[in-house]
Amino acid sequence: MLDGSCLCRAISYRVEEDITELILCHCSFCRKATASAFSVNARVHQDSVTLLAGDDQLVSYSSSPGKKRFYCQICHSQLFHLQETLPNMMTLKMGTIAYSSQNLSVVPKRHIFEDDQFSWLSD
Ligand SMILES: [Zn+2]
Ligand SMILES: [Zn+2]
Repeated sequence: MLDGSCLCRAISYRVEEDITELILCHCSFCRKATASAFSVNARVHQDSVTLLAGDDQLVSYSSSPGKKRFYCQICHSQLFHLQETLPNMMTLKMGTIAYSSQNLSVVPKRHIFEDDQFSWLSD
């Protein structure tokens, strides 16, 4: 079980499904959308996610056709994205996780869009 929220905590959510893979995305869209060097994402089924508060604060931005990124309209944290090619799934932005009962350190990690990775980030 995971609990998460946006920065201002107006929006909070609970996920009742184990994370099976952490996807580290280096694409420029994720970088800019999260104001970070890369984003850490996890795909879960929509029906295992409950919005505990703040559904009226949720707004979305379509960053590319068929893909919507969801944000808090107060603090602008990005919480998840939905894409038409993955129906019934939700891609969580793992930077918003506040608590996990699952040991996430043993979950397999996969990097994507590595060609777009900031050169100054590699060791
Ligand atoms: Zn917020
Ligand atoms: Zn990305």
